[in-house]
Amino acid sequence: MLENEQIRANINSIKNSLPGNVALCAVSKFHTVDEIKAAIEAGQTLFGENRVQEAYEKFSELRKDPSITADIKLHIIGQLQSNKVKKAVEIADCIQSVDRIELLEKIEKACQNLDKTIDVYLEVHTGEESKSGFSCDAELMECIKKLNDGLFPHVRLSGLMTMAPFTDNECLIRQSFSKLRNLKEKINEIYSKDLIQNLSMGMSGDYRIAIEEGSSMVRIGTAIFGIRNNI
Ligand SMILES: *Cc1c(COP(=O)(O)O)cnc(C)c1O
Repeated sequence: MLENEQIRANINSIKNSLPGNVALCAVSKFHTVDEIKAAIEAGQTLFGENRVQEAYEKFSELRKDPSITADIKLHIIGQLQSNKVKKAVEIADCIQSVDRIELLEKIEKACQNLDKTIDVYLEVHTGEESKSGFSCDAELMECIKKLNDGLFPHVRLSGLMTMAPFTDNECLIRQSFSKLRNLKEKINEIYSKDLIQNLSMGMSGDYRIAIEEGSSMVRIGTAIFGIRNNI
């Protein structure tokens, strides 16, 4: 576990290295409320979590904490099971890991019940390894069409998200990111407008490449909070 001072220093140095148009999502999965507070003290307000239950517990606590005056935003970035949607929608400002149409339908319904509008990213599978994200172009395009047609009025399409393959091969990583950027451009061309505005791509090990390929949001965990004690 890193000292709070180290977490603050990491946030500052990463922030200073990012271009002005690239947002930083601090991925706090497996880290404690105290570690998250250290990041908040350094001015960080946007956080990413993978698991809904864990996010729910930590961010409910943070949002009740009277010593925190900043407006904390939470993005769910991990694979989302349908039975967790209700809780996810309650706690999150954005769900970045939408990877099937059924999930959009469930998110719409949950938001409707809460009278809340939520941002989403559509997660696209761009690498070789089997990983989460739409791999079927047809289903992805159907989601985009339905969002554009206003069939999910409580859901705002914010952008596309991807994870590059876990490899040392920089070429493959770059390919994965450029694939996402090309997809965004293709979709915006089809709709003759900036329907897709953001690209969430880049993690601790590859965010510099992601920025070169047009990322507008990097999701960084390890380089801020240190190694996770995953079980
Ligand atoms: C864990 C995770 C990250 C952060 O990974 P680091 O390598 O620790 O920076 C980013 N995106 C997703 C989807 C993740 O699950």
